[in-house]
Amino acid sequence: MDINFLQTQSIPLDIKNQHDSDCLAFAISSSEDGIWEYDIQSNATFVSKRWLEIIGYHEEEYSSSIESWKKLLHPDDLEEALGVLYGSIANKVESAHVRYRVRHKKGHWLWIYDRAKILFDTQGEPLIIAGFRTDITKQIELELHYEELAAIVQNTTVEVYILDTVTLKYLYANNGALKSLGYTLDELKNLTIFDINPDITLEDIDIFRQYLLNISPELTNLSTHKRKDGSVYPVQASVHKLTYQGQTAVVIFDTDITELTGIQNKLQHLATHDSLTGLPNRVLFHDRLEMAIKQTRRNEEKLAILFVDLDHFKQVNDSLGHSIGDELLIEVAKRLQSLLRDSDTIARMGGDEFNILLDGFDNTENIISLVQKCIDAFKEPFTVQEQRLYATLSIGISIYPDDGINAELLLKNADAAMYKAKTEGRNTYQFYAHEMSEKAYERVIMENSLRIALKDNQFRVFYQPQINLNSGELAGMEALVRWEHPTLGIVSPDKFIPFCEETGLIQEIDFFVLESVIKQQITWNLEGITIPKIAVNFSAKTLNSRSIADEVRTIMNFYRCPANCIAIEVTESHIMRNPDEAIKILRELQALGLEISIDDFGTGYSSLSYLKKLPINKLKIDQSFIRDIPYDEDDIAITKTIIALSHNLKLDVIAEGVETLEQQQFLIANGCPLAQGYLYSKPIDTESITRLIRSKEKWI
Ligand code: C2E
Ligand code: CA
Ligand code: CA
Repeated sequence: MDINFLQTQSIPLDIKNQHDSDCLAFAISSSEDGIWEYDIQSNATFVSKRWLEIIGYHEEEYSSSIESWKKLLHPDDLEEALGVLYGSIANKVESAHVRYRVRHKKGHWLWIYDRAKILFDTQGEPLIIAGFRTDITKQIELELHYEELAAIVQNTTVEVYILDTVTLKYLYANNGALKSLGYTLDELKNLTIFDINPDITLEDIDIFRQYLLNISPELTNLSTHKRKDGSVYPVQASVHKLTYQGQTAVVIFDTDITELTGIQNKLQHLATHDSLTGLPNRVLFHDRLEMAIKQTRRNEEKLAILFVDLDHFKQVNDSLGHSIGDELLIEVAKRLQSLLRDSDTIARMGGDEFNILLDGFDNTENIISLVQKCIDAFKEPFTVQEQRLYATLSIGISIYPDDGINAELLLKNADAAMYKAKTEGRNTYQFYAHEMSEKAYERVIMENSLRIALKDNQFRVFYQPQINLNSGELAGMEALVRWEHPTLGIVSPDKFIPFCEETGLIQEIDFFVLESVIKQQITWNLEGITIPKIAVNFSAKTLNSRSIADEVRTIMNFYRCPANCIAIEVTESHIMRNPDEAIKILRELQALGLEISIDDFGTGYSSLSYLKKLPINKLKIDQSFIRDIPYDEDDIAITKTIIALSHNLKLDVIAEGVETLEQQQFLIANGCPLAQGYLYSKPIDTESITRLIRSKEKWI
């Protein structure tokens, strides 16, 4: 550092002696600031080495002059920097300071804080200007960062408040808060938390204060806010401790959850109500029943459950379609509801089942009179889509505490009583009698053990060959499910499939069979055994499940199973229950490349016009027609007709239940190309069928 320069200039600083001068030289050399000096008379300039360090230059690279300083200045700051300097000189002000940016040698900008002293002579002419330049880049960046953060907080839609924990007044609120509440900041600052949170209690305040004493970092709760116009809305609040302007305070972040609460309420309603009739559903009924039982127990009263089931509702659905069925259910719900007191609960338990909870009744006569009123009310027809429909009710009644002391038992027994009413000829009611529960109990056991069977893998797939009557070769197989019960042994599907169809378990079973068949096809393929096609039975319930085609496609894709090695069998009567819907679904399955067969054909009364429209590939003549061939003339005629029909409609045809050589002979003579039956093999397990296939080339 060229200290001499300063020393030779006798004017700028008041240096009295050598000691002072040395101190000054030391101060300059160790200063964090860059030092500069400009002699106005001689136009000589000086800058300290530290200044050059700040801007990244070596001494030999930088010629010190006002011009080279100006060149480094940011164009946006040039005017102000010079303005301050020249303005101070003109106004004879002795000190000036200004912030500006200069370009570092490497190209980036530095923020500099420049403080200058101007020395005037006795006539007021400026002689020398000298100053300190501090690199304040970091500080400015930090300031900008805080400004940005402050702007974010100020403008976020989340409501932000800072609350004085002593006065409970607001010290700060952001725009989001002011907008939501409709107050100005000044207005809000005059309010306390009690004005904004109408339901906040002194106890809440205590929690607040408690919280301040604790170390827990965050507190959240739900509360309400009151706007300036008096309206209220729900908020989720999160509270944090902080120090604000030197005092302990809390910052509160509040989010308006009006929308969320709306959705939650809707979801809650959906989860507890039946979407068709708007009545409480099974879940809500159960809740109310349990509450009512508690209450009734306390008051030593009685309550009754009516289990109401529409008679023959299935027929309405099957013959008139689901949309009429649905509307009828809505009307039924309305009519039942109109007969009840407000304090009674009626719920739709699913399908055509309604449960009614009668709270606190005096005697059985009251129940009977209500039940009779319901049955009478149903003597009037319903009008649905301009059709007059009659519906009757079967009602089962169970009473707390006589017929059960918990909800499950009461419901189960009311259900059993309802079944009894059905068997008594419907359109009637039955009180629960203890011996009745046996049957209902069996049903529960059955349903439970079937669920366990699914979980524990007790189902097996058996295979029955299908034979090409022209070539004598294996044409395919049918997969038939068996239940390998741990104690009962093999249970045939007739014993459990109808029950599974009632409870909906059938879908899982059908998919279990489908997946097993696909896996078996892969195994056989690896073992060099080719089975052209394996037929899987799909129940109507499975077929009508919403995304059946998607699910089948997913499984097939997962195992990379070509579609043409699987066939789906659907019974004719299942299709005819709702032919239009069936056409739609079968079309989707067929589009996947699956073969579609109509099972038990001839028993389901399909009309020819529908048959033409159905997306199917094969008819499967029901075994009841084959059984008495060649003795029964009618069966012979029907079988011949079905074979001819299949030729006409260009469909494949297979006869099932073929047990004798005569039946086989008859089929060959009448042009039936395929057969299945005990003559070739009963349905047998995988190992046995594999052995059988290996041992045979020709089957006839
Ligand atoms: P289906 O689909 O009509 O199956 C043919 C039934 O006839 C089978 O009874 C089979 O063992 C029997 N059968 C085959 N050949 C002969 C024969 O020559 N003579 C006699 N008398 N009977 C023969 P199975 O296996 O007891 O199945 C009964 C019904 O259970 C099936 O009738 C089908 O409707 C249903 N089923 C079986 N497996 C499944 C399945 O995985 N899913 C669904 N949804 N239903 C299935
Ligand atoms: Ca079948
Ligand atoms: Ca069949």
